[in-house]
Amino acid sequence: MTDDGRITEEKLCECGGKKYKYAGFRMELYLCYKCGKFDCVTDIKDDDFIEFLEHNPELIPHLIGSGYLIKT
Ligand SMILES: [Zn+2]
Repeated sequence: MTDDGRITEEKLCECGGKKYKYAGFRMELYLCYKCGKFDCVTDIKDDDFIEFLEHNPELIPHLIGSGYLIKT
């Protein structure tokens, strides 16, 4: 682990790739470009949408393309 003194919001994926942060409606999503794995964070309790996304990850590029998820 290097410390170059920069503070970044990116997290690292378990594959070693960088996760990029996206913001949506009351949610944040961290997407790894390398393996496609993602984490969702929401303040909505028992959010069915997140569960839906976890079962349909192929929809994420569409959400980004349509502007629902905005890269931050
Ligand atoms: Zn990854």
